Amino acid sequence: MNLNDLRNRLTFYQDLGVKQLYKRAAPAANPKSQGAPVILTASPVLIKPAIIEPALPPLAPPGDTLALIRADVGDDCRRCRLCEQRNKIVFGVGNEQARLVFVGEGPGADEDAQGIPFVGRAGQLLTQMIENTAAKEGISIKRADVYICNVVKCRPPENRTPQPDEMEICGQFLFRQLEAIRPRAICALGSTAAKAVLGTKEGVTKLRGRWHKWRDLPVMVTYHPSYLLRPYNQDAKRQAWEDLKKVLHYVYD
Ligand code: URA
Repeated sequence: MNLNDLRNRLTFYQDLGVKQLYKRAAPAANPKSQGAPVILTASPVLIKPAIIEPALPPLAPPGDTLALIRADVGDDCRRCRLCEQRNKIVFGVGNEQARLVFVGEGPGADEDAQGIPFVGRAGQLLTQMIENTAAKEGISIKRADVYICNVVKCRPPENRTPQPDEMEICGQFLFRQLEAIRPRAICALGSTAAKAVLGTKEGVTKLRGRWHKWRDLPVMVTYHPSYLLRPYNQDAKRQAWEDLKKVLHYVYD
């Protein structure tokens, strides 16, 4: 094997992720020893580790769109128990080519009645946060420029936290939405959204303010607007504004 062949062979192993090669002991001169087990010496020849970004398995059919996903959800989805008490399926709202997607937990009473996410008190706060923070930071976007959706598309009874099986069943549609839009960043609002998007059990306090990843997309976690509506959460409010500023500058600068 000449030097070029050797280089090609090593590159091939490197591409496969092989990080160490072992030199085989020279074959014994004695013909009787042929067929004896091969002895590998312990001194590894180190190759620089290959940086391999494995292709992510597709989550959605090729050419997926929000319209196709909405059609797949159907008008009378019965995949989980949340269908029993919901009025309207709350799929998502906003710009289909949004650079930023907000993910909440699940519809409340107002959203269930209107079929639009974040239109109640928490929604009004979210809208104000987006528009006022953007304006203050010199970024000209409105709520309609982003995309807003939830982990579960149907209102949980009494606004309880969605259960793991409900999140998993509905999560397939959330993930398809994220993949169809492929925003520059995702903002997970509260611990249910963080859990669904990041698959973590950590709470918001630990996760917020830092960048994480969903597949190859950056994710910021911050407090849910409903939590910020509680009167004693001044610190959390300040932190949520900081988080939002970070996201807006990352996405729109
Ligand atoms: N809370 C959410 O998580 N989502 C909504 O759409 C409304 C309130």
